[in-house]
Amino acid sequence: MTSPLDTTVCPRCEQSTVRVMTTSPVPGAWTMHVCDTCFYSYRSTEGPTATDPASFPQDWKVDPADIPGMLAMPPVPQRRG
Ligand SMILES: [Zn+2]
Repeated sequence: MTSPLDTTVCPRCEQSTVRVMTTSPVPGAWTMHVCDTCFYSYRSTEGPTATDPASFPQDWKVDPADIPGMLAMPPVPQRRG
């Protein structure tokens, strides 16, 4: 048995800006969460590396201070002529 999911802190950016995005058609099967800071979303039934801030891979963490300077990927090309 695992401990209840902490849905108040984003696993990726660790901000307290997580909210419920949607819930399963079958009540209680899963809940989808989304972070309003880094837009990471995850389902409550995913493993701890996707849902738990302490287990989320360090290499994939996002510092909220870096978000405004991030590039759009893929870059939008200049219009021709
Ligand atoms: Zn986040």
